[in-house]
Amino acid sequence: MLPPQVIVVENAWLAKIAALKMGSQRVAMVVGRRIYLWGVNKADFLQQPAWVKHELAHVAQYQRYGVVKFLILYVFEWIKNGYYNNRFEVEARAAEQVP
Ligand SMILES: [Zn+2]
Repeated sequence: MLPPQVIVVENAWLAKIAALKMGSQRVAMVVGRRIYLWGVNKADFLQQPAWVKHELAHVAQYQRYGVVKFLILYVFEWIKNGYYNNRFEVEARAAEQVP
């Protein structure tokens, strides 16, 4: 399910900050090829294929643009369109449905 180059980090402070900011109990956050988790462990995360596909879509986005450029584009999109409607989230949500 998970490509070997992708690393999952549990109890990540980066994801904790995102969880606090977003008011979520459980957060997965991608930087480069690492998926940082808060409020969910790796085993439970991997049990949820749609969620995994969503985060892997973000890994692919990082690979497409490179880490620095992607982060700049992502923040720009977030400011312009908000979290839910930013094009990277729209694309990642579409990936959840791909079998
Ligand atoms: Zn996302």
